[in-house]
Amino acid sequence: MNPIDKLSQYFKEFPGIGERQAKRFVYFLLHKNPGYVKELGDSILSIKDLIHQCPSCFLFFQGDRDELCSVCRDIKTDKTSLLIIEKDADYENIKRSKNYSGMYFILGGLAPIVTKETPSFLRLKELLSTIETRAKNTNLKEVIIALSLNPQGEHTDMYLREKMSPLQEKYKFKIVSLGRGLSTGTELEYSDSDTIKNALLNRQ
Ligand SMILES: [Zn+2]
Repeated sequence: MNPIDKLSQYFKEFPGIGERQAKRFVYFLLHKNPGYVKELGDSILSIKDLIHQCPSCFLFFQGDRDELCSVCRDIKTDKTSLLIIEKDADYENIKRSKNYSGMYFILGGLAPIVTKETPSFLRLKELLSTIETRAKNTNLKEVIIALSLNPQGEHTDMYLREKMSPLQEKYKFKIVSLGRGLSTGTELEYSDSDTIKNALLNRQ
């Protein structure tokens, strides 16, 4: 395959990138100076070595493999509260709203409505084990479900409540949903800081 086509095949796999944009990226790089392209190549190569996923909350962070991320380690983090979000971009958004100081958990996706089976991308087992550890060690008081307000998000909300209920019985923490402050159809990823702040304040 010719190198231009080969590289554009890679770009095509990026989220939201089509054939034409992929080609534009390749030509953009061809017009750039070699130093820029080398630095880009190096940072792509090193990202997997420098960035790892936290084994407790699954956030990506700069640090060693198997180490906890800075949010989980920080003594200022409120360890009695755990907020469940779908993906990394949601974390950025909630952090920006500056209204939440607890811990996070990245679920990895939403539960499909059609099947009863838990899909492999959904970190249900990991979530339950993080909750249990937190309930035992840090007096977990509240789990906040912060998923998008669409049918699949609401389905996942109910699904998680059901799966967490044995642990809730045992450790007596509260489960709330962020949904009330957001309007129907809202994607957390595209909500502004004020909307998220309100939703956090009005959680129930
Ligand atoms: Zn963490």
